Amino acid sequence: MHRSALIAAALIAPLSTAHADDAFRACLDGLRAEAVARGVQTATFDRHTGALEPDMEVIALLDRQPEFTTPIWDYMAGLVDDERVRDGQAMLERWREALDAIERDYGVEREVVVAVWGVESNYGGSFGKRPIVRSLATLSCIGRRQAYFRGELFHALRILEEGHIEPEAFRGSWAGAFGHTQFMPSTFNRIAVDFDGDGRRDLIGNPADALASTAHYLARSNWKPGLPWGFEVRLPAGYDASDAGRRNKQPMGEWTRRGVRRIDGSPLPAGDTPAGLLLPAGPQGPAFLVTRNFDAIFSYNAAESYALAIAHLSDRLRGGGPFVTPWPTDDPGLSRAERREVQQRLIERGHDIGAVDGMIGTNTRRVIQALQPSLGLEPDGRAGRKLLKALRASRP
Ligand code: CA
Repeated sequence: MHRSALIAAALIAPLSTAHADDAFRACLDGLRAEAVARGVQTATFDRHTGALEPDMEVIALLDRQPEFTTPIWDYMAGLVDDERVRDGQAMLERWREALDAIERDYGVEREVVVAVWGVESNYGGSFGKRPIVRSLATLSCIGRRQAYFRGELFHALRILEEGHIEPEAFRGSWAGAFGHTQFMPSTFNRIAVDFDGDGRRDLIGNPADALASTAHYLARSNWKPGLPWGFEVRLPAGYDASDAGRRNKQPMGEWTRRGVRRIDGSPLPAGDTPAGLLLPAGPQGPAFLVTRNFDAIFSYNAAESYALAIAHLSDRLRGGGPFVTPWPTDDPGLSRAERREVQQRLIERGHDIGAVDGMIGTNTRRVIQALQPSLGLEPDGRAGRKLLKALRASRP
């Protein structure tokens, strides 16, 4: 059992399982009136919550304390690799007609919409498998942030009531995000659109509904058509980076005055477009000037590393290259193809690490950490370039 699952089990240990189930049932009964006040019919509430048991794994995930940290170069290398660029370019072609209309209706460039799709679900390849209502009901009655999750539960029930998504198909992440671009239920009810006009906003079964809804989300987040999200820049030698920060925007002309240039040495765009200086790995790593369109992407999931992955993937989908400035590390991150090779080589050495899927989980990192000293590496549990080279060079 995962350590945080043990902690969660310990927290409810004073109650027997039967008592815990009774408490869960009583909690759900207590939510019925509020659900009705929030627009859910009693019959809908009872149909979808009547036979539920809590899923304690979601409480463990809610309270998870990361055992290992992920440097941004690992994060970016896995999310923006050649494979995701190729797959995204194929999707741009396959969904061209829908994307023509979506771009025209919402003014959000297709590469950005498809980049969100690629980062959120690998273009529909991974949605999350947990029943949304069960997860949200559990989070509504047990653990932290119950008020927030109750709101999401009521929104989820309204989605089922209106018939947008079949109950059996209504599955997603442990926290309740679902579909091709991982909307939360409240976001769905605020933003989702029925692109193909069949009467259902089906963000799980219909990619075009999901792509249009994502464009609508970005448009409502102040997206400015035609404005780049930003670009990589070169700072003058000895630059005082204390003014860095996405929110600390200055006119482009002010950045020019301070000696900032595009990464190829050319001048910044003319005009006074406000932009902030983003230094995701500090002043020694890649530097970017980012506009309000970067903020629109940021609003999708409130993490700068995440927004940068989507922004960069959108550039790569247009044919742009990797960042010019290397990350400040002597042990760069691995693509998913390289991570699969690490997994394959660990299995060949007799380690039980589960499926070869390109995703290095906590158990695999523990295996790596235990193995690293014998390969002459620091035991940090990372699957980086040094580990891959060492595995290739040594016999099992
Ligand atoms: Ca539809």
